[in-house]
Amino acid sequence: MNKTLTLPVTDGGAFDIVIVGGGTTGIAAAVAAARDGAKVCLVEYYGFLGGNATTGLPWMAYHNLSGQRVVGGVAYEFIERLREVGGASDFYMDPVCSSTVAVNPHWWKLVSMQEVKKAGIAVKLHSLVVNVETVPGAAGRRKVNGVYLTNKGGVQFIAGQIVMDCTDSGDIARMAGATMVKGRAGDQKTQVSSYTVTFGGIDVPALLDYFRKNPDDIRPFPIDNIDALLAQMAEAEIFIIGGLRKLIAKARADGFELPRGVVPGLIFPKTGEMTTVATCIEGLDPTDPEAFTRAEQEGMRQTQLWLKFFRAYVPGYAHAHLCGTPHQIGIRETYHMADAEYVVTGDDLKTGRKFDDVISLGGYHVDIHAPNRDGHNDHYVGPPTFQIPYRSLLPKHIDGLLVVGRAFGATHEAQAATRVIPLSMAQGQGGGQAAALAVEKGCELRDIDVAELQRRLLKQGQILDHTGLPRHPRASMFKVATVGGHVNLRDQDTGAARAAQV
Ligand SMILES: Cc1cc2nc3c(=O)[nH]c(=O)nc-3n(C[C@H](O)[C@H](O)[C@H](O)COP(=O)(O)OP(=O)(O)OC[C@H]3O[C@@H](n4cnc5c(N)ncnc54)[C@H](O)[C@@H]3O)c2cc1C
Repeated sequence: MNKTLTLPVTDGGAFDIVIVGGGTTGIAAAVAAARDGAKVCLVEYYGFLGGNATTGLPWMAYHNLSGQRVVGGVAYEFIERLREVGGASDFYMDPVCSSTVAVNPHWWKLVSMQEVKKAGIAVKLHSLVVNVETVPGAAGRRKVNGVYLTNKGGVQFIAGQIVMDCTDSGDIARMAGATMVKGRAGDQKTQVSSYTVTFGGIDVPALLDYFRKNPDDIRPFPIDNIDALLAQMAEAEIFIIGGLRKLIAKARADGFELPRGVVPGLIFPKTGEMTTVATCIEGLDPTDPEAFTRAEQEGMRQTQLWLKFFRAYVPGYAHAHLCGTPHQIGIRETYHMADAEYVVTGDDLKTGRKFDDVISLGGYHVDIHAPNRDGHNDHYVGPPTFQIPYRSLLPKHIDGLLVVGRAFGATHEAQAATRVIPLSMAQGQGGGQAAALAVEKGCELRDIDVAELQRRLLKQGQILDHTGLPRHPRASMFKVATVGGHVNLRDQDTGAARAAQV
């Protein structure tokens, strides 16, 4: 079938910066740009802001593995705002995930909306961007002029001197003609997607008792000071688990169908709840509506399998119940911008490569929920502090567009580390302030004075150099037993953690 539909288009206004995607990346970009004086419009498909971070996930890795906090600025301010209303916990230090903080997803929706309004940002909810307008630009490049969105009012055009793609799947970049590649090099497979759910009614002391007797079932790798970890778990408002391997093996031997060999989960001892991403769906491309639908259905089906398993096999879960489901399945990876001015690689992160145009730092591990082997295995690497260069947000052949967040210029491996919430916000802030600077100076994004951008980032509290920063007092309590600082968990299912470079 080949049909064309012609629809009237209404005027949605003109802005300095139009940001598409109201997740953590887009929110941080919008707030930072507005604070630098830009007139900003934030467009979001759902009826709330916050994106995937509203599904109850903890915010991972404000710190590097040495316990230095390497993310500041808007991302850190949000944690402070959330703490003021009881919506965020203290930091829990983790041997692999650096640090994590529990964020109440309901408060996150409320606080993010409040902060965006306070910053004077125009918000358009329930609006899906379906096309972009481009015109000829300088040196044979195209230039993005604005976006077409659809909502119950019909189709609107919103003009923007700069458009920021914070959609996670690189929708705007694809529509504008950037070269986007899916997943990993070679076979284009992407990380698995997960239906993030919360179970309540958990007797956490009983679970901790099980871990005390079975410390090798907390996480699928050796930890050298398990007593310190258990002590922190007993007192924390949130703790991470990644194991239950032995119980899963037993259940599987009894004939249970379970999609993973370990359970990645976050326990909230105060409320007796657990948020888990144990479901896994391979190869989801959200641009295929049939596959997207099937993935939601499969996420729901797997959730019921897990709940049955927990009730029957895991100490403390006899009365567990389902108390939280997401607004949509969580998609870890789709497209990456291949023709960015610079494409960040896994090696850049693992070697802590320094960039003159650094806009944000990170210290999270390369966390690949692997596309093959039924998504059972992750790779973990303890990276040094790494840097994100401004150039990796810039498409080579398009002006007026920045691609920020999961679709920015990075490989499958690099994106597996940069995708977590605080890092996405730090990147969003970098992009937002760069866009505001370009508008103020009346220049193209690629022509801004990066040193001036960096001064403005520091002024808004961002951290661009971790040298000499203090360490979190709990950071050195324990570490994963590794060889050469690297742990490769290809064999999570069997628990045979092998040290290797990945
Ligand atoms: C299953 C899963 C588990 C995770 N676990 C953790 C964790 O424990 N800790 C952690 O720190 N990070 C975790 N992450 C990563 C993290 O949630 C995200 O990568 C991060 O929040 C980045 O957010 P974002 O704003 O770039 O994307 P998103 O949160 O996906 O936001 C993108 C927004 O854009 C909107 N949008 C998309 N296309 C359009 C369009 N065409 N028009 C209008 N709006 C559009 C979407 O509706 C969405 O709200 C996890 C991710 C997944 C998928």
